[in-house]
Amino acid sequence: MEAIYRELGIDVKKHEELMNALGELYGKLFLERNNRPEAMGYFDKVMAEIHGKRIEELYQLRKSGRPLVGTFCIFVPEEIVISAGGACYGLCGGAQFTIPEAETHLPRNICPLIKSAYGFKLQRTCPYTQLADVIYGETTCEAKKKTWELLGKLHKVHVMHIPHMKGDTERELWLRELERFKEEMERIAGKPIGFEELKKGVEIVNAKRSAMKRLYELRAKDGCIPIAGLDVLLVNQISFYDDPVRFTEKVNELCQELEKRIERGMSVFPEGVAKILVAGSPMAPPNWKLHWIVEDSGAAVVAEEACIGHRYFRENVDISGCATEEEILQALLKRYSNIDCACFTPNHQRVKNIIRMCEEKKVDGVIYYTLSFCHTYNVEFKKVADALKERGIPVLKIETDYSMEDVEQIRTRVEAFVESLS
Ligand code: SF4
Ligand code: SF4
Repeated sequence: MEAIYRELGIDVKKHEELMNALGELYGKLFLERNNRPEAMGYFDKVMAEIHGKRIEELYQLRKSGRPLVGTFCIFVPEEIVISAGGACYGLCGGAQFTIPEAETHLPRNICPLIKSAYGFKLQRTCPYTQLADVIYGETTCEAKKKTWELLGKLHKVHVMHIPHMKGDTERELWLRELERFKEEMERIAGKPIGFEELKKGVEIVNAKRSAMKRLYELRAKDGCIPIAGLDVLLVNQISFYDDPVRFTEKVNELCQELEKRIERGMSVFPEGVAKILVAGSPMAPPNWKLHWIVEDSGAAVVAEEACIGHRYFRENVDISGCATEEEILQALLKRYSNIDCACFTPNHQRVKNIIRMCEEKKVDGVIYYTLSFCHTYNVEFKKVADALKERGIPVLKIETDYSMEDVEQIRTRVEAFVESLS
């Protein structure tokens, strides 16, 4: 690994500091908990080797001329990257570690996710970032699109124009953006992406999303909660950088174990535990703060209405009946433009989806999570809260960043909320 790190220009000393801090946190939050499904062993191993085995795999892919694409958002169509034989992965933006450095370039009062990700590039502590042929940014929110201009001075960045409304004109533009993305992948791979390759790419990602959906369905079933929310959050986070075929297999193995646990009534929480849906801004690794506090306060997180969660795997790309590349691109457009990110206006579908998820999971309450300065999710809270109140579903709003300074304050509020639910 040392040679690869040297070639990638990693700041080895800083990187070691980061890995030590991560390892300690991971041990405390995950490894010390009892009664975890055995199949979580695979995901623990992936985390333990987060900057090892997978980096080597990606390095070999790049050596063979396959495109490596780093992303910050679920609007980037990974199906197309996989069609080109490459890998698409999420770039971690969930660590406090890199933020002080990022704040030497960026204002303090923007979303921590953006600062954290930018800081990884500045520090040269993330081999995924260093390996990427290209980082794909998008125009979803203000701070992001302006940050790409600065990030572009440090790494090759492409910006995908994601419109903020969903009319016919916007869909036309979006289709052009998908075509432009495909052309870029073809350019890096040095070969065209045909119908068969596109179809294969879609099938691989569809299988991954289906496995994650299966996991979601097993989280709180027949009065049994066979897995902690924190563990599912981890699986969801890993879905953004593991090999998709292997990941799918491992998630399905986990699901088989959970099915057996449900049959035997093996719950990881006591009977009558308060079931919580977490809705809001994405939680990029290693952001485990809220789930940890909620489950430490005696409640169970049974669903995440978020991009690292249900919004990512809710819908597959329907290519039944597609006979040409253009039709597959149209199918991709249909699926991606159904995403109900708060950057859209209006965004009625999101409220409906949250209510549906609350009903599906029979939750006792919702914790609405916004990262500090994430204006879109923050403003959208009012609409969501009104709809929940109308249906008698209690909601608590938590606005926070990645620092640990407010942990006790959040814990007090969460404990009072959980208490009120019982
Ligand atoms: S919240 Fe919106 S902008 Fe952020 S990752 Fe999700 S889809 Fe992208
Ligand atoms: S969390 Fe909110 S502010 Fe941050 S990048 Fe995503 S949409 Fe933008």
